[in-house]
Amino acid sequence: MSETKSTCCYCGVGCGVIVEHDGAQITGVRGDPEHPANFGRLCTKGATLHLTVAPDTRSQRALHPELRTERGAPRQRVGWDAALDHVAERFAAIIREHGPDAVAFYGSGQWLTEDYYVFNKLTKGLIGTNNLDTNSRLCMSSAVAGYKLSLGVDAPPCSYTDIDATACLFIAGSNTAFAHPIVFRRIEAARAANPAMKLVVVDPRRTDTAEAADLFLPLLPGTDIALFNAMLHVMLWEGWLNRDYIEAHTEGFDALKRLVREYTPAMAATICGLPKRDIELAAEWFATSPATLSMYCQGLNQSTSGTHKNSALINLHLASGQIGRAGAGPFSLTGQPNAMGGREVGALSNLLSAHRDLGNAEHRAEVAALWGVPEVPAVPGKPAVELFEAIGRGEIKAVWIAATNPAQSLPDQAVVHAALAAAELVVVQDTYRHTETAAYADVLLPATGWGEKDGTVTNSERRISRTRAAVPPQGESRHDWQIACDFARRLGARLDKAELAERMFGFDSPEAVWNEHRESTRGRDLDITGLSYAKLEADGPQQWPFPAGAASGRVRLYEDGVFPTPSGKARFVATEYVATAERPSARYPLHLITGRLRDQWHSMTRTGLVPRLFNHEPEPQLHMHAEDLARRDLADGDIVRVRSRQGAAVLKVIASDTVRPGQCFVPMHWGGNAMAGRLGINALTPSAADPTSKQPELKHAAVQVEKL
Ligand code: SF4
Repeated sequence: MSETKSTCCYCGVGCGVIVEHDGAQITGVRGDPEHPANFGRLCTKGATLHLTVAPDTRSQRALHPELRTERGAPRQRVGWDAALDHVAERFAAIIREHGPDAVAFYGSGQWLTEDYYVFNKLTKGLIGTNNLDTNSRLCMSSAVAGYKLSLGVDAPPCSYTDIDATACLFIAGSNTAFAHPIVFRRIEAARAANPAMKLVVVDPRRTDTAEAADLFLPLLPGTDIALFNAMLHVMLWEGWLNRDYIEAHTEGFDALKRLVREYTPAMAATICGLPKRDIELAAEWFATSPATLSMYCQGLNQSTSGTHKNSALINLHLASGQIGRAGAGPFSLTGQPNAMGGREVGALSNLLSAHRDLGNAEHRAEVAALWGVPEVPAVPGKPAVELFEAIGRGEIKAVWIAATNPAQSLPDQAVVHAALAAAELVVVQDTYRHTETAAYADVLLPATGWGEKDGTVTNSERRISRTRAAVPPQGESRHDWQIACDFARRLGARLDKAELAERMFGFDSPEAVWNEHRESTRGRDLDITGLSYAKLEADGPQQWPFPAGAASGRVRLYEDGVFPTPSGKARFVATEYVATAERPSARYPLHLITGRLRDQWHSMTRTGLVPRLFNHEPEPQLHMHAEDLARRDLADGDIVRVRSRQGAAVLKVIASDTVRPGQCFVPMHWGGNAMAGRLGINALTPSAADPTSKQPELKHAAVQVEKL
């Protein structure tokens, strides 16, 4: 029996794992006691990873390429040459006839950094379109935009060690106990070691995280900005601001001060549905604790005002000087295992490599020079929701989807399914073949999965870890970066760019890809030129920045009070509270909130293969307050139809005091069966998105509920 060190492929905590195997089959997994993200701990999902690749899951694997040349016909097994030649031929024909913006790629926070890098280079460098987006758009793009707006660059300034050092932990819009369980274990340990540490939780639902709070603020859904502005109002009124910090290290405070004068605790109490005294107490603890750390996730991000929710929270840190010190700072928790790697590589439709911006001509020229191409297109590509809408309108004719399941995970699913049905060509590259999206694939390309791949991932605290292959690829599956390189050379040959494609995609290993990515970071805020695969091998996971000559990575950013903005100062962002896009009405009287379960991941492509992970919650249930059940003459266990402006779903209802009257909750994980005409939970959610980050408001919909 052998052991291989690697990383868990689920959430952004980025836990280290030790994979037990016999060289052919993975037989077990346990936590890596030396990994600084988890010190040997694993949650239920991580501890059952080996079961997702057990022999009895093989029937769900995509093991060889499949192709159909006619819609409606079954796909046939083909070789790699036939599959990739076919796709290259179709992509080249569409690009020649309609231009490069008629094709698109939709990737994933499950990709390794090396996968992201090659697909980004293929799309923006070789093809010449910025139509590359990923499911990180649904997860982290508001955090990206918020950090850039307030602090200058997309860099979480904190580390997990700040949990141990903080005096006040302020969790907003995150059920950390379920979504980032090992971080929550660390919070529990920190509180046990320091009983004086305060925990404030802001969430519309009484989650497991909220149950642990010293102060729980069950605000009305989407009212976070009103709360944060009112907290700043209290800090101003009570003289709890750090005026020296504001003067020396920030700009824009006067405009914010004028704005928050209106946000009295009494006014916010009405908007948020909270006791005025609790708002005042939250402000006091936040501002006057020796160190305050905030942690936040999709509750702030998946919102039509997600960017401003992030910035309004960062305002509190800047105003009270709670940043750049041990135990203090705004810490965005990353949803996916390597959403951060995608942000580093610039693998979103509006970003470029190493935190460069598409809108910046100098940045475009730098990337073009690095890649050896004449230019990188300036026009941003389509973000996720708009990308699928453009497919539906026929503007994008071919789409390549990798390692993600948009037919289940995007909002307003009816639109997404119609788009996939209307596309001229749908290529799906995945480890598994049973996803809702794979049902639409004209070409299915089998990709290697966890335990079979080599590369790197970056977790929430900017820590780069190695992911290692323990066993060989299953069937004929290939690595994502390899498939992209092979396709790029075939496409280049058909677009009179054969020589360029050979030069751009001559990588022979993930390390060669990573080395080029590393070079792109030279002189940037995330400079990793002091790192190498060999150093990661010798010294274990490392945090960025880690420039050449550095002895170590940076645990904490902005300790010197200098920010990567033109003035060197952080920016206050004065922003008004705006309600959610959908609000309860006479026709749709309930506010639906979506969220995660402890033991499931995303659309359950992998966790759905492990029966024991259904013990916690075996089926999707609509959680409603007993008053709302009684009003509708419903009882626990009744089957109901939930209907929103977008669509409908049939669910079992249960009484729950985790939501207030007028609200209901459903876990996000379950899809439907598109071929049978049934859609999943996201049939209900709207596609309305934040105007800056373009992240859709997956958390909120207005619904009606009727007994069946
Ligand atoms: Fe994996 Fe996240 Fe659980 Fe750690 S906390 S074992 S990274 S799912």
